[in-house]
Amino acid sequence: MSTKADSKPIISVTPDCKGCDHCTEICPTRAIQGQLGERHHIDYKNCVNCGQCLINCPFGAIADMTMVNQVKEALQDPNKYVVSQCAPAVRAALGEEFGMPVGTLVKGKMFAALRKLGVKQVYDTEFTADLTIMEEGTELIERILHGKGPLPQFTSCCPAWIKYAEDHYPKFFPYLSSAKSPQQMFGEFQQVRGFEAVRDATIDIKGTPVRVAIVHGLKNVEPLINDVMNGRSRYHFIEVMNCPGGCVNGGGQPIRHDLAI
Ligand code: SF4
Ligand code: SF4
Repeated sequence: MSTKADSKPIISVTPDCKGCDHCTEICPTRAIQGQLGERHHIDYKNCVNCGQCLINCPFGAIADMTMVNQVKEALQDPNKYVVSQCAPAVRAALGEEFGMPVGTLVKGKMFAALRKLGVKQVYDTEFTADLTIMEEGTELIERILHGKGPLPQFTSCCPAWIKYAEDHYPKFFPYLSSAKSPQQMFGEFQQVRGFEAVRDATIDIKGTPVRVAIVHGLKNVEPLINDVMNGRSRYHFIEVMNCPGGCVNGGGQPIRHDLAI
C-alpha cells in the first residue's frame, strides 16, 4: 500500500484553531500547547496519538490522518486481494454516524457494505481477542503461580498507553503483557467496569485471591506506576486504557458534544 500519508502526523491542529485552550486540559500528556487566543501546536515527542483533543475541540479544528484514498486505490487494483478487520467499537460508532440511536449495533450492515465495496474477506477482531485472552491469561497464571515475570501485569492493547510507557517509563517493560490486541481480556471481569478513573476488584481463582484494576486516562495511571516502582502495588493485573471508558470514546469515534456517555 502507498505510504504517501506516512510522513504526515496522525493528529494535527488546523488553521481553524481559535486558541480557546480547551485541548490543553483534555490532553493526557500535555502535548498540545499555545497561548490563549493563538493557534495551538502539538509537541509530537509527547503526543501519543490518542485523538482526545480531536473529539473534544469545540471548533472542529483538529484533523487526523486519513487513509481513505489508499483504501480506494487498493480496492480498484485487480492485483490486490483486500481483506479487512473490524474493531469492536466501530460496529456501534458507524450506526451513530448514520443517525441511528446511540448504541445501535450495525455489524451485519457493516460487513455487507465492506463486501459490496469489494473487500474479499472481512474478519472480526473478536476472533483474535479470544486468542489473546488465552495467551494473556496463561501469562498471568505463570506470573502468579511460577514467578515468571513481575507483578502486576499490565495490559498492552491500548497503543496510546504503550507509546506513553515507551516514552516515559522504558524500564517498565517487564510489567507489560507480551500478548497483542487483548481487547476482551476482561470479558469475565465485567463487574469492575465503569467510568471512574480507577476501579478495582478481587477475584477468587481456585482459592487464590487475584486483585485486578482498570484505569482510564494516562493522567490517572501515573500514581499506579509509582506504586509499582516503589514496591507498594497491591495488584496482580492492571488494564490501562487512554480514553474515557475505553475505545468506545476513542479518537476515531463520532464527535458528539450533546451526549454524556
Ligand atoms: S480546543 Fe480546538 S480551538 Fe481550542 S485551542 Fe485546542 S485546537 Fe484550538
Ligand atoms: S492526540 Fe492525544 S496526546 Fe496527542 S495532542 Fe491530542 S490529546 Fe494530546
